[in-house]
Amino acid sequence: MNENIIEFNNVSFAYDSEIVNAPAVVKNVTLSIKRGSFVAVLGHNGSGKSTLAKLCNAILVPQTGKVTVNGMDTADNGLTFDIRRTVGMVFQNPDNQIVATVVEDDVAFGPENLGVEPKEIRRRVDEALKSVGMYDYRLFEPHKLSGGQKQRVAIAGITAMQTECIVLDEPTAMLDPRGRLEVMETVKRLNRELGITVVFITHFMNEATQADRVLVMDDGGIILDGTPKEVFSHKEIIIDAGLDLPAAAEFSDMLISDGFNLPDGILTAEECIEAIYAEAKKRGVC
Ligand code: ADP
Repeated sequence: MNENIIEFNNVSFAYDSEIVNAPAVVKNVTLSIKRGSFVAVLGHNGSGKSTLAKLCNAILVPQTGKVTVNGMDTADNGLTFDIRRTVGMVFQNPDNQIVATVVEDDVAFGPENLGVEPKEIRRRVDEALKSVGMYDYRLFEPHKLSGGQKQRVAIAGITAMQTECIVLDEPTAMLDPRGRLEVMETVKRLNRELGITVVFITHFMNEATQADRVLVMDDGGIILDGTPKEVFSHKEIIIDAGLDLPAAAEFSDMLISDGFNLPDGILTAEECIEAIYAEAKKRGVC
């Protein structure tokens, strides 16, 4: 089997394709998403992230170039069903994604539509709710849940269809800090423990630092692609693209310019604390 679950080959997309010279909002993108990887996508508003996400599971199809999912061409209408069974999408607003009045019915909705047997649906719903830590809420009414809990139910609805890849389009944008953490921890666990491939669009830099790979989009193209350490080492490009550096990176840069001897490339609060502690020890402060 191909080691890449999603491949973009020289893909361009314009919304008003019938208009001559309509501007492409995704431009000549060539990209491979490795099976089992956790990829974060960053970019300022309007840079093309959502469009890229929708090209991943045939919600949109490119006018030029080709997108394949497990080798299936997204432009082939006959394959749309299989493509959507392979790559599921989670969107920003948790309220727009919940269709049922009881949590477990909502999670069952996807597998029911796939024609899965009732006994197998029961098993999948229980397993999916456990995998996102929402099993105890299976009989709750979704509107009584917090935003983070609703997003976890939406994610369970995708995993109950046994999709191999989840594309999440700013799933934490409308959540409070606790909800953001819940969703991030859930997605990390699904990636680590179940091997689900994750494409995670976010505008929170600290979320991107937790991915295996970070893509930065600007004006419809990918301008940076690498590990979080590689990508965030291009500080000027990040700032020129209208993004911030992770808070821990900014903080450690300030300390370095104040004469502290900290290593380059600090991205997380943990790394920053460790480096400050090591420096303080060296100076005999603690
Ligand atoms: P991002 O997710 O990075 O904010 P989008 O992919 O949503 O970027 O948008 C890329 C560009 O496409 C923007 O200029 C946006 O205005 C435009 N766009 C997005 N959706 C539509 C649409 N349905 N119709 C026309 N233009 C759109």
